[in-house]
Amino acid sequence: MKNELESGQSLTLDARWHESAIYSLRDGLILFDQDHRVALWNPRAEEIFKRRASETIGADADQVWEWIGAHAINSDSARAQLTRALKADVPSNIELELDAPHRYISARFFALTLPYDSNFGVGVLVRDITREREADAMKSQLLSTVSHELRTPLASIKGFATTLLRQDVKWDEKTQRDFLRIIEEETDRLTEIIDHLLDMSQIEAGALRIAKEPMQLRALIREVVDEMRMRTEAHWFVMDLPAELPRIFADPRRVRQVLHNLIENAIKYTQGGQISVGCEIEKDQVVVSISDQGDGIPSEFTEKIFERFFQMDGKSTRRVGGAGLGLSISRGIVEAHGGRIWVESKLGLGSTFRFALPIAATSASE
Ligand code: ADP
Repeated sequence: MKNELESGQSLTLDARWHESAIYSLRDGLILFDQDHRVALWNPRAEEIFKRRASETIGADADQVWEWIGAHAINSDSARAQLTRALKADVPSNIELELDAPHRYISARFFALTLPYDSNFGVGVLVRDITREREADAMKSQLLSTVSHELRTPLASIKGFATTLLRQDVKWDEKTQRDFLRIIEEETDRLTEIIDHLLDMSQIEAGALRIAKEPMQLRALIREVVDEMRMRTEAHWFVMDLPAELPRIFADPRRVRQVLHNLIENAIKYTQGGQISVGCEIEKDQVVVSISDQGDGIPSEFTEKIFERFFQMDGKSTRRVGGAGLGLSISRGIVEAHGGRIWVESKLGLGSTFRFALPIAATSASE
């Protein structure tokens, strides 16, 4: 079916094409006629605003803004913006914040015209931009954390290097070595923060590389504990590993990273005391546990500490370094292996972090 337009152009008017485009559109589409009554409300608009087309067709724009406004975080301002945008001559774009569930919506208003009618009505394209907004928020949080966390070690490196380079002071050899040691430690801290950020971005993108191979958990635990023993004088380590441990099918470098992280936290966040590292076989998985004798973690934070950038006490954490990424990376790594990680804690008595990894079907006893 062809419709001859005034300009001489022709437009295919097979209704199914129009219907299919409107039906398949990933954006919500609302069309208002010249009297600002709803003429079209596509399925995506139904989803976004949780209102069926049959309830909206023929409704007055003010009534529609009333419905939408009722779900907006700031209802009055949302209604006023929508009313203004509908009356404006130029195409306009507004953003709304809706609740239950929390979402960000962009609404782009445009004039509906035809070659023979310049004022056919008004169209509104509606998009759910929640993911974009969340990504923006994550980026700004990342930027502020990165700049804050990198600044502290950088300032320290710069300060000690400048001090060493002073020509008017002669430092004895021990002082020089002390200053150089601090520069070395702070450089390690910078490297760790950057590594954490890279791991985090891979986990976020679902692109964490895991190279699984049959590995001996027992040897790895011993190695990491021996390494960490050297880092503290205030803590002592107790290992409780069964004589027989099945091999697991996992990425040794990543499992080492998780162990390292949990033991490092047990050192960092406790004044001293015993750190127990254990391993048990439970059905088809091995469960590794790291217990400390620190102050413990209040129950309202036992899930939150696994969120990226979350630090229980900003000030004390800052004192010991870290960007609040260690546990969220550990969770990302364990989950990428099909396992799980959690903490149990008693205030004043200490915390036990555990992670479970599946024993591969092909496992063989060590
Ligand atoms: P960071 O990399 O800054 O150490 P993590 O993600 O490893 O961050 O830890 C998040 C928060 O969890 C820390 O800021 C700390 O407050 C808390 N936490 C982690 N491990 C322990 C622990 N063993 N005892 C008490 N608090 C802990």
